[in-house]
Amino acid sequence: MNTTALLAPAVGAAPTQLLIAGDWRDPRTEGAPLVVTDPATGATLAEIADAAPEDAVDAVDAAATAFDSWSRTAPRYRGELLRAAYDLLMARAGAFASVITSEMGKPLAESRAEVAYGGEFLRWYAEEAVRATGTTRTAPDGAAFHTTIRQPVGPSLLITPWNFPLAMLTRKIAPALAAGCTVVVKPAEETPLTALLFANLLVEVGVPPGVVNVLTTSRPGQVVARMLDDHRIRKLSFTGSTEVGRRLLAASANGVLRTSMELGGNAPFVVFADADLDAAVEGAVVAKLRNGGQSCVAANRFIVDRRVADEFVAAFADRLRAQVVGHGADPATTLGPMINTRQRDRAAGLVRDAIADGATPVLSDDPEPGTAFLRPVLLTDVCTDSAVWREEVFAPVAPVRVVDSEEEALQLASDTDAGLVGFAWSRDAARLTRAAHALECGMVGLNRGLVSDASAPFGGMKQSGLGREGSDVGMQEYLETKYISHPFP
Ligand code: NAD
Repeated sequence: MNTTALLAPAVGAAPTQLLIAGDWRDPRTEGAPLVVTDPATGATLAEIADAAPEDAVDAVDAAATAFDSWSRTAPRYRGELLRAAYDLLMARAGAFASVITSEMGKPLAESRAEVAYGGEFLRWYAEEAVRATGTTRTAPDGAAFHTTIRQPVGPSLLITPWNFPLAMLTRKIAPALAAGCTVVVKPAEETPLTALLFANLLVEVGVPPGVVNVLTTSRPGQVVARMLDDHRIRKLSFTGSTEVGRRLLAASANGVLRTSMELGGNAPFVVFADADLDAAVEGAVVAKLRNGGQSCVAANRFIVDRRVADEFVAAFADRLRAQVVGHGADPATTLGPMINTRQRDRAAGLVRDAIADGATPVLSDDPEPGTAFLRPVLLTDVCTDSAVWREEVFAPVAPVRVVDSEEEALQLASDTDAGLVGFAWSRDAARLTRAAHALECGMVGLNRGLVSDASAPFGGMKQSGLGREGSDVGMQEYLETKYISHPFP
């Protein structure tokens, strides 16, 4: 089956230019295009605009100009636009899923699940747009009366990663627009087509010119630096690696920007001796293999009580061994390619190093050079100093360590600088409560391998980030609090 050709009509519908002030435009300076490829085959999918810093100035001009009127539109109007975007996205779910699979690689069923998940942010914030509230208070000395109002923070820069090309975008655009902010979007260079297709959908439903601007570029460092130096940008929302996030936080200090940082994780998946093992294995498959392991909330370290370790590892290995690796458009595929050969080679290197450090390969892969595919890997006896344990693997690689007590499990679980999510499995409600309180992370899945939901505040502690996305809290990230002091009547 020529899978690239199968998805070509959907891919061909994605715009290839920059969206600035409501116009699809070529970059100001002519140059080589940004080439988007299918990670499964390496085939070229599209050649698109490669923005330079001067295009970024145009995009900020557009966002700053549009902010004046957009920030004063009725919340109900903004909500209705988001709802229209949700409805149109659902009507075109198949096309969006095809584009996601083409440029990111995951199986079509997972891309469809991403469209459903990403769409929920549009629906949630369509409803949330009319719910921004303030407070009133009498000053303790009785001399004044304070009213607190919430106002949009201003033109916002949104930077997204390649792993969920649609959902990471809607998780930012929807609350920003609901709050009354205008945005410049900088999608990942690996997966810009989904962002361009989605921006076009927003234009179609009537989002006014300049409210959403999109810059695709192969030079994110230069283009973003220009925008962070422009004091009309008032907010940066970034999802990506901790390393880049740290650099952007430093760069945001100049303009004292509001920042939201959704960074890398290193999630522990703790299986206590009293867990329902069938359910835990099922959860482990989801937590490890969803998105090919390329998810910030992927289980990265499996911590298993010695009394159930052999049984858990054997059942988990069976499930990992049964995965069908292939092109995401093939209906039989359950595990697509990794995003590129570089990431695949990095993961394979981490596995080799862990084995050299003493880990036992229960399942291993000796990947073919030149392709982005990696079969699931399962390692036991992993040394806690190994990079595969200490770093975010971002691949279908499952390292396991055996522990002898609840205390040891929870101590090991939080022994990391990351703190995004943790998973715990037990039939004992009190043990689960203790685990939920002890885990040093922003989100906890109890007897669940998946925590992402538009109605919940997604985000991390420690070096996994700042701020939250989703729920009512996600909109506050785009709102300033202002208090107005009146004399007490
Ligand atoms: P990345 O940091 O390499 O890239 C993310 C974005 O930053 C891309 O748009 C990229 O073009 C841009 N970028 C890269 N260098 C830049 C620079 N110098 N200046 C400005 N922008 C720059 O990350 P990635 O490889 O695309 O994504 C994977 C990472 O994202 C993982 O670490 C993962 O955990 C993290 N992630 C976190 C969450 C979360 O919610 N916490 C969600 C998804 C992904």
